[in-house]
Amino acid sequence: MIHKITPTHPRAKSLIIREKLVEGFRNGIVVPEGLIAHGRGEAFDYLLGEKTTKYAYEAEKVAVCLLLLSNKSVISVNGNTAALCAKDLVNLSNITKSKIEVNLFHKCLTRSKAIARMLQKEDANEVFGLDAKLRSTLRYISSNRKFVDKNGIMNSDTVFVALEDGDRTESLVKMGKKVISIDLNPLSRTAIASNVTIVDNIVRAMPNMIKISKQLVNRDRSYLSQQIKNFDNMQNMHKSLIMIRRGV
Ligand code: ATP
Repeated sequence: MIHKITPTHPRAKSLIIREKLVEGFRNGIVVPEGLIAHGRGEAFDYLLGEKTTKYAYEAEKVAVCLLLLSNKSVISVNGNTAALCAKDLVNLSNITKSKIEVNLFHKCLTRSKAIARMLQKEDANEVFGLDAKLRSTLRYISSNRKFVDKNGIMNSDTVFVALEDGDRTESLVKMGKKVISIDLNPLSRTAIASNVTIVDNIVRAMPNMIKISKQLVNRDRSYLSQQIKNFDNMQNMHKSLIMIRRGV
């Protein structure tokens, strides 16, 4: 059960996120390594002032443009992301017509099924990544992180990942897929390898992206492509890094 956190506590938001992850851990959704990964993210978020910067918002807008323009986009969900924002992930997938795939760093069918149930409770249509017979193998990666769904990530043109590891991101990019990532650490291999890197906390990025996608869903394709053309991911990440170094 989530501990009661007083809303007036100066660190209430951060404590609520922790409690959601701890609850996810107790329910078999989040692995202990996921709690540690969150700690790294939290430290960067602290330095960012726990706010969406204007650079993160720009990246969120471009990410939505890319999802709306893609024909076969997939949102990759892991334990942490499901525990923190299952409903928002499903909403974004519905608005942008993206598939959802459960894809875990630490593979476990029971956990994948528990995550899928969480997503289905939020009205996800089909959840990919559960059928071992449909397993396909990413190239340029040897560990068991290489497995993806043949009809999901393997067949995609754009993959939206959050809290991903660098090997898999690099492999997806080498295979010619566009990768959008959410990572509070602009220095991670995931952040550097991605085509669009959102340096923001997933709990803020997701509602922003849903709002933006509702605004852009009916815009013409030339407007969406122009936003992508005007965007320089390295420069955008560099600006986030400067904000982190200077302090906000
Ligand atoms: P890489 O292999 O890409 O270099 P890593 O080994 O540094 O990654 P991991 O432990 O694989 O990192 O993944 C955790 C990443 O997710 C960290 O970079 C952390 O900043 C980020 N992260 C954790 N929690 C959040 C969150 N709530 N929102 C956004 N990013 C987060």
